[in-house]
Amino acid sequence: MEYPSSKDLKERGRLLRLKTTRNYDNPLDSLLVHFNKASRILDLDKRVYDRLLAPMQEVKVNMPVEMDDGQIHVFEGYRVLHSDYIGPAKGGIRFADCVNINEVKALATWMSLKCAVAGVPFGGAKGGVKCNPRRMSAGELERLTRSYTRAISDFIGENKDIPAPDVGTNGRVMGWIVDEYSKIRGENVPAIVTGKPLNLGGSLGRIEATGRGVMITAVAAMRQIGVDGKKATAAVQGFGNVGSISAMLLQEQGLKVIAISDVSGAYVNSNGINIEAAIAYRDDNNGTLEGFTEGEMISNDELLGLDVDVLVPAALENQITAKNVGNVKAKLIVEGANGPTTANADQALFDKGVMVVPDILANAGGVTVSYFEWAQNNSKLRWTKERVEFTHDRTMNFAFENVHGKAQEHDVSLRTAAYVLALEKLASALKK
Ligand code: NAD
Repeated sequence: MEYPSSKDLKERGRLLRLKTTRNYDNPLDSLLVHFNKASRILDLDKRVYDRLLAPMQEVKVNMPVEMDDGQIHVFEGYRVLHSDYIGPAKGGIRFADCVNINEVKALATWMSLKCAVAGVPFGGAKGGVKCNPRRMSAGELERLTRSYTRAISDFIGENKDIPAPDVGTNGRVMGWIVDEYSKIRGENVPAIVTGKPLNLGGSLGRIEATGRGVMITAVAAMRQIGVDGKKATAAVQGFGNVGSISAMLLQEQGLKVIAISDVSGAYVNSNGINIEAAIAYRDDNNGTLEGFTEGEMISNDELLGLDVDVLVPAALENQITAKNVGNVKAKLIVEGANGPTTANADQALFDKGVMVVPDILANAGGVTVSYFEWAQNNSKLRWTKERVEFTHDRTMNFAFENVHGKAQEHDVSLRTAAYVLALEKLASALKK
């Protein structure tokens, strides 16, 4: 049997792609479409464009970890530093099966753009480990986290590259990183990560921050398109940190959240779902909504097509695609997740007049409060929750106004405007 060489496979892939409608499954492809569009609007110098597109550093590590059954499993991990032109690089760590270098590169680039949009003085980075945290014991997760920390310890630093939680990681994982990194340095270095538990130097309001930013930008966008929050309905995809908090805060604003979902499926109830009760159910049920009976079960794809005013995709990339965008009925999409809309679906939404608050604006609340946490660690001061929320809300409203203003100036979507704003800031930082 003759197996095709990698060159043959590449060639076949290229031919296949030429014959079919491209679906931008690789998040880097979607990113590039928007990046290029904004670069054309700015008439960006090619040398500046090249420097802004390519990440400054890509690290791949293989980590042997002893599993509970005594076997050794070698896990694959990455840390990509996209840029540090505006400040130290900043970006979460993802523990998920789907982690791959293209995803991590796209997420790192989005972090640079996001910090620029929010006016937070950080660059962008991202890390990931290919694993299934839900199938691992606490001991296995801790050994993996400590091993990953050791493997990337030369590349991170409180003034160099500062990790945070993302899909599949949380405050507990951040605590292990602080501990392992501090042992390597021989001193306590709480500012090495953000999103830490409060007793390890975390900030009040950090857990809620990303969802709070989604709510703030959703309210600002609803104002623009004339949707009354008190009469509006919403559907939220993903019920982890971002999805559940976004749902809860939107409900607090008076919206009726009629559908929620997670990996176990989607749940719809036209009378509205009590989000606080759903969060309590998830927390008592090993972190999932499986078996949730307060709504009728539908598929995740059906949730995306519900007739609601506001749709919040808050799970993973590539959820709204060329295949299902025709079913979307929402008036407003607020991207809690990174990269949930592929580039061709984004164009289709723009063509049918759906307002999309893009990820690099909508979910920037997380990194905004991460910056406050880092600043508190460095100044040895503690902020009250009121101060965190007030400063966060002001930052997010200001970012929305800036992006909206740019969109009007260039007559483009909020996404293109956000990329224009970010690239403008990054390019000017490069020139200094
Ligand atoms: P999380 O791990 O807490 O939650 C992810 C949720 O998505 C879970 O409920 C999971 O069950 C669900 N999910 C996974 N696959 C799904 C699928 N195919 N269909 C429906 N639901 C699915 O992660 P998170 O921190 O809430 O992050 C969610 C998204 O928000 C990611 O794109 C992440 O990069 C982005 N984000 C997170 C933060 C943060 O502060 N945590 C900040 C900015 C952006």
